[in-house]
Amino acid sequence: MAKILYLVIPCYNEEEVLPITKKALKEKMENLIKDKKISKDSKVMLVNDGSKDRTWELIEEYHKEDPLFVGVKLSRNKGHQNALLAGLMTAKKYADITISMDADLQDDINVIDKMIEENNLGSEIVYGVRSSRKKDSWFKRTTAEAFYKLMRVMGVEVVFNHADCRLMSKRALDELEHFEEANLFLRGLVPLLGFKTSIATYERNERAAGKSKYPLKKMLAFAWDGITSFSVKPLKMITTLGFIMLFISVVMIIYTIIVKILGNTVDGWAFIMLSIWFIGGVQLVSVGLIGEYVGKIYNETKHRPRYIIEKELK
Ligand code: UDP
Ligand code: MG
Repeated sequence: MAKILYLVIPCYNEEEVLPITKKALKEKMENLIKDKKISKDSKVMLVNDGSKDRTWELIEEYHKEDPLFVGVKLSRNKGHQNALLAGLMTAKKYADITISMDADLQDDINVIDKMIEENNLGSEIVYGVRSSRKKDSWFKRTTAEAFYKLMRVMGVEVVFNHADCRLMSKRALDELEHFEEANLFLRGLVPLLGFKTSIATYERNERAAGKSKYPLKKMLAFAWDGITSFSVKPLKMITTLGFIMLFISVVMIIYTIIVKILGNTVDGWAFIMLSIWFIGGVQLVSVGLIGEYVGKIYNETKHRPRYIIEKELK
């Protein structure tokens, strides 16, 4: 039996690109249905993330003229990640598998075929990975790749060059629902689910129309959110810095004593020198220690599931 696929597309002020996207996706879905790769009950779910333009009117229009298109309207703009989650959680009520994609056709829609194949081979999650970013501007490419590297260094497990184009089965989405955090960073969350996963690569295109809704400022805020929602490494770095300061203070003690013995000092210099370095080190280690506890509290308040059982034999 072919599975029911729901394509989940968050849309924020996308009236310019939506007609193009609709045409491309309609053709793609009809071909997939014709080739019996997916069930005829499959849909394209357009999630309106509180757009200020005619995006929702367009979605209503598409739904009226073709049952292939269904819509979800958020009451206000909640950001890409929340819009995506809203779509996925709604879609999983009807779908066997979902594929999330951007509205601007930057993710090559032919990756859908590859993802379905991987899913048929048993993967519950298939990550869409960009094989090249030739068509992105130098600036976008460099900042985006720095983003993934920074995430890794800061101890967040992310798939390199994977954005939010991915296939997830209903099984995986049911588990995702148990992650209750308010600061949503799906790219970091999905790898925590486990299960059999695989990768489907595609070429990243230019935006079909309209402007990027992720200017540098939003991208930086997104990276910051990703790190601070997933990693206590920044807190641990304080402790490390504190120990480095204490080590320097030992070096400074020796240096100060030598200078003092040689007599090249004014009164009180040695005392102040030693105090500054030693107290600085002690303070940072103390702050770091408190940070360790804050980190534990932070992890506890997330109420993440402690384990996910994939299968039970009985
Ligand atoms: N988006 C959204 N809410 C927002 C910002 C963006 O739903 O507040 C959607 C947008 O419509 C698009 C996707 O998120 O489908 C990715 O945005 P965009 O293409 O502008 O990002 P970029 O590809 O430039 O990083
Ligand atoms: Mg885009």
